[in-house]
Order: sequence, then structure tokens, then C-alpha cells
Amino acid sequence: MRAFYNWKFALTIALPLVLASVAVSILTFDLIGRVSTGSNIEDHQRTREIVSSALDAVQQQLANNVADNAYWDDAARNLYGEVNEDWVSQTWRDSSEGGVIYDFALVVDRGLPEAVTGYRKGMAFKPVTTDYFSGKLDLLLDRLPQDFAAPATKSAIINTKDGLAVVAASPILSTSADVVIDAAKPRFLVFVKFLTPEYVKSIGSQYVLQDLKLSLPGTLEDDSEAMYDWQGVAFANAQWADRRPGDAARAAVTRKAALTLGFMALVMFGVGFLCWRLIRAIAQREQEARNEALHDTLTGLSNRAALHEEIERLSKLPGTTAFVAFADLDGFKEVNDTYDHATGDWLIRVVAEGLRHLTKNQGMVCRLGGDEFVVLFTGKDAEKQSCQFARHFIEFLRVPFDLEGRQASVGVSIGIAGWSDAALESHELMRRADIAMYKAKTTGKNRYCVYLPSFDSERVENLDIAQELREIIATRTLDVAYQPVVDASTRQIVSVEALARWPLTSPRKITPDRFIRVAETCGLIDDLGDLILAKACADASRWPKLRLAVNVSTVQLKNPKFVQRTLGTIAASGIDPARIEIEITETTLMDDVPKAQEIFAALRAAGLRIALDDFGTGYSSIGYLRQFKFDRIKIDRSLVDQVISGSAEQHIVQGTMLMAAGLTAAVTAEGVEHEEQINVLRLTGCHELQGFLFYKPMPAAEISTILDAA
Ligand code: C2E
Ligand code: CA
Ligand code: CA
Repeated sequence: MRAFYNWKFALTIALPLVLASVAVSILTFDLIGRVSTGSNIEDHQRTREIVSSALDAVQQQLANNVADNAYWDDAARNLYGEVNEDWVSQTWRDSSEGGVIYDFALVVDRGLPEAVTGYRKGMAFKPVTTDYFSGKLDLLLDRLPQDFAAPATKSAIINTKDGLAVVAASPILSTSADVVIDAAKPRFLVFVKFLTPEYVKSIGSQYVLQDLKLSLPGTLEDDSEAMYDWQGVAFANAQWADRRPGDAARAAVTRKAALTLGFMALVMFGVGFLCWRLIRAIAQREQEARNEALHDTLTGLSNRAALHEEIERLSKLPGTTAFVAFADLDGFKEVNDTYDHATGDWLIRVVAEGLRHLTKNQGMVCRLGGDEFVVLFTGKDAEKQSCQFARHFIEFLRVPFDLEGRQASVGVSIGIAGWSDAALESHELMRRADIAMYKAKTTGKNRYCVYLPSFDSERVENLDIAQELREIIATRTLDVAYQPVVDASTRQIVSVEALARWPLTSPRKITPDRFIRVAETCGLIDDLGDLILAKACADASRWPKLRLAVNVSTVQLKNPKFVQRTLGTIAASGIDPARIEIEITETTLMDDVPKAQEIFAALRAAGLRIALDDFGTGYSSIGYLRQFKFDRIKIDRSLVDQVISGSAEQHIVQGTMLMAAGLTAAVTAEGVEHEEQINVLRLTGCHELQGFLFYKPMPAAEISTILDAA
């Protein structure tokens, strides 16, 4: 659960937060990178334009200089026709030596391959121009107007034999009309200024360009830019140190962004942490609520909802075997009514603890509420385990509980149901376990029953019986038969036992065992018992010399008003209570000994007698029976049957008789069917006999007839 929420948190909160942070960081740094690179590129382009302009300006400057020297009467006068070398020497030798404005000056005739005259560093210099300028000078001269009508100038950067140089040319012209020029033989003045590294650097520094360098075109390095002439032909490569303003901006912004992102990450971490704590708290609360919803608060065992959930889960798994043992405590209500609720709660907790101990984590132990518990077993041995558990649980409850010094016993009826191949729905499984439990209850409690399909029809039938029984009680139409009991020696009728009979008017035939059981489980036994007693008392008032035996179910004894009701009914009939004997079966004698003693004492005080019915079928020890005072003991038919079958049983019967004598009670033998039994029974000390050999149960009218005839 905890892990699940950690995962949920990681997936829904932490991961998105981290991803968002990473995405924002990547986007931010990418943007900074893009902006700074953009700014660098832009600056580079601008610088390139400045470089270009600087080179233009250098060319323009030299062009202006050459124009000043060429458009001059003296020049025209001395340089056309026969060149006045003295004048040339005077004019350009010295200034070429300084090399400030130009490195050398030439006078060129378009018709001649070699320069007409020239000076370089104070020395006469007459190169073959086509060679020296690799033909580029002619191209420059071609760009000048050919009519010589007006002064003009052109310049270019040319790769000369001595390296890159600014070359400027102007036609030599006079300013006045008195110098006549032969237009057929035009001459040009050419200035050349070498682009030495120092000179290039000084140009750069004029334009705030760092480390400006020029190199020959063709060998383009990474960070160099080609410079193009007016024809679009590259004349040089320029290189310089870019200012890269983007880098500085990037450094500054990156620091701030890193700080901001760091802060953001911190905030996100804080938010994430708070969310995590919140989710954890919610998960914890949810877990608690779930626990609460699936557990019984009193015992901490799983509750009905949890059981239902688990059965549904199992039913969807293929190949599972699942069995439930549905246990319903018997006698818990009495404990709860007798003591306070705290005691009841305590008892439930002790039982729950016992269940935990008995199952040793082998099954899922649940409390459905009240005194209902279920243990769910799975696996191929589930059915075996359920039965084994049921036996152990019944044994566990056999030991009475000590409640404030008084002993209280609760019993249990357990129904077992399950599936081994075709899974059942939770509802159906529990219905079957409930029916099996009901079966265990109606067949004598403190036992378990494994569900059989026949239980379903039986259950339906029992509901029908209960329904009809309600009507029978309401209309008081129940029949009562009487079976005479005779004196063992005189065979005179001394008593009659009232036996309930399903009315003959009913379309079905139901045995008393069956409808008494239904009455016990449906809460009808108190009213039914009252009705039988009332009818029996009314009938017996006609036979004043006979005792009247009436059967009472132990379920009736659990009703706190039992004594009051019974004595009330007897009093209302006007019959002498001393004639009445209450028969109670041994097997289901009360678990709460003191309470039973109390009831017996109250009945005795009113004059009634108590008989122990069906003696010999139960397993009660003589010590246990000694705690009650019985006026009579009725030996069960199963024992009486064996009286003549062999000597071994005879001894058992005799032993039983002795035990009865030890309890200082009179003894009646039930179910006497054969003459041969009588002598043995008389010899072993039976005072009275009852059985088909003498009389079968019969209607009250027949008893009257027999008595009248006697
Ligand atoms: P029970 O109290 O032991 O009643 C004696 C049963 O033995 C009666 O069966 C009776 O008909 C039968 N019986 C008597 N002599 C012989 C015999 O020689 N041979 C054979 N085979 N049976 C004999 P019944 O009337 O069917 O009653 C069965 C049980 O139903 C009774 O056993 C008693 O536990 C219960 N029951 C009957 N009437 C009442 C009643 O009014 N109240 C209560 N609480 N239980 C009753
Ligand atoms: Ca009886
Ligand atoms: Ca009996």
C-alpha cells in the first residue's frame, strides 16, 4: 500500500516536476545559447561590413591621392611625350621612399607592357605591368573613362608579385588649355600601397577591429571572410578577432538563469515534498479507513465485507478450493442477558482469541457480527481443515468460561460449505454454510454439518412447518396423545406421558421430533410448550388418580419467564402441581448448572417433580448429574432394547440402575416391547414401565375409556 502510494507519487507528482524542471532548464539554456549565438553572428556580419568599408575607404583614399597628382598641369607637361625624368625624380622619388601614402608610383602607357617610369623606395622602378599585377592593372584602367574629357580615378586591391596591395590609377590630365595631350597615347599615374600586416593592423585599429589580417583568397580558413571586388570576384580573405558580444551576454545570463533555476528547483522540491507528505497522509488515512471498513472493531478480526471481498477474489482465480466454516454460538444470548454487555463483549473477544489460536493463521478468521464467526480455508485440504477446525472449536467451547466466579458455557453450531472446482458466488456460499449451520443447530447443537443439497429442501420444508405451527398454536388445534406408564409389579396405570401430535386435520404428517425442533429454532417453543401443558392439564383433570408427565425442551428453560409461565398455566388449570412431572432430556441439559438448579428448585418448591429423560443416551458423568436433584430417571429405549439381547448389556443396564439408585430417584424403563424384558427390568430395580407392550400413545378419550373399564 505504502509502496503503491510512493509509486503513485513518483508518477503523478515527482516525475512531472522533475521533467518540468529539466524541460525548463533545457529550454532556458537553449534560448540563451540561441540568442547569444545570434548576437555573435549578427556582430560578425556587422564587423564584416565594417572591414569591407575600411578596405573601401583605404582604396578611396589612395584613389583621391592619385587623382590629385594626375590632374595637374605640371604632370601633364612632364609626363607626355618624352618623360622628364628629373621632374619625376623630384616629384615621386622622395615621397615613395617614406611609403606613407604609397609604396611606389608608376606612369603607365596603355600601349606599352613595361611602365614608362616609376619610383619605389626612392629607386627607379619599371616593372612589366602585366606580369607584376598579373593582368589586373589593365582591368582597373579599363574601368576609367576612355575619352579623357574629365578627371577620374579608380582603385582596387590586387595581388601583386610582392603581395596584396591597394592600387589606384588616374589618367594624367592638365587643368588648363595650354597643355595639349595626345589623346591617342593616354598615360596613367598609378599609386601602389602594400597591404603589409602592420598596415592592415593599423587600418583595423582605426575602425576598432581587433587583429585584422588579410590573406590571399582561395585558402578560406574557418573564421575568415572573403572580400569581393566590384565584379564579385574575391580579392582577399579578411580575418579578425570577433568581439562575440553574445558570449559575454551568455555568461551573464547563464549565471542568473542558473540561480533562478536553482531557486525554482528548490521551490519545486519543497512543493513536491509537501505533496508527498500530503499524499502519504491521505494514503495512511485511506489505509486506516480501509482497515476500519474491513475489520471488526470489537475483535480486530476481518468483518463481513472483508470476507465477501476475499471470497469474490478467490472465486475468480481458476482452480481454487475454498471452504467456509460458519459458526453460530449457542447460549451467547443468555450470557449477554444474564450479565452486562461488557461481559458479552469480553466473551466474544475471548472466543475470537481462541479462534485465532485454533486456526494458527491457516484460515481467514472473520466475525460477521453478534455471535457469528466464519473461518475461510483455501487449498486442496480446505474441507478437511474446516472439519478439523470445527471439531477443535466445539472442544474448545466445552470448557465453561469463568464469569465473575460463575461458570457459563456457550456451545456452537457450525455449518461447512465450499467448492473444489466450480466456484460459488459469495452470497451462495454463505447461504449454504448458513443452511448447514441451521442443520447442525436443529440436530442437537454442539456439532457441525457439511452442506448437502438435500438441506435446501429440508430448510424450505421447515419454514413451511414453522408457518403451519404458528397457525396451530394460534388456533390451539395441536393434538396431545397420552402414553400410560404402568407399575412394574401390578401393571396398573400410574401415570400418563403427554406427547405432542401434529393435528390429523393437517394435510401432512410431521413427527413430534421434527416439529419440536422447528419450534425450538423458530422461537415458537415457549408458546407451544405452554399450549401442550395447558391441554395436558385440562385432560388430566379427568384422571385425578394419575400423575401427568410433560416433556419440556431445554430451550424453554432458557426463557427467564419459564417458571412463572409454567406455574401460571398449571394454576389456571386448577390441577394439583404435585401430580405433575417435568421431563427433561439428559443430552441437552443446561450448560449453566446454577441457573438450572435455580429453576428446578423453584418448580420443586411449587410441588412439581423433575424427571431425567432419555437416560443412557448422553455422556454426562454421574458427578455432573449429581448436581441436580431428580425425582425420576427414565431409562432410554436404546438401553431397554439391549436388556434381552445378551448378558453384557444386562450388566450395563444393571450398572445404570445402580447409578440411578445412587441419585436417589425412582426409575422408569421406556420402550418396553417384549414380555422377556419385564423380569430383567424388575430385577434391576425398575419401578415403572412404559412401552408399546402395554400401551401406545393414544387420544385422551381412550385413556378415559381404559380407566373407566378398570
Ligand atoms: P420421549 O420424551 O422419549 O417420548 C417417548 C417416545 O417414545 C414417544 O415418541 C413414544 O411414542 C415413543 N415410545 C414409547 N414407547 C415405545 C415403544 O415401546 N417402542 C417405540 N418404538 N417407541 C415408543 P414420540 O411421541 O414420537 O415423541 C418423540 C419425542 O418427541 C419425545 O421423546 C420427546 O423428546 C419429543 N416430544 C414429544 N412430545 C413432546 C412435548 O410435548 N414437548 C416436548 N418438549 N417434546 C416432546
Ligand atoms: Ca419423555
Ligand atoms: Ca424418553
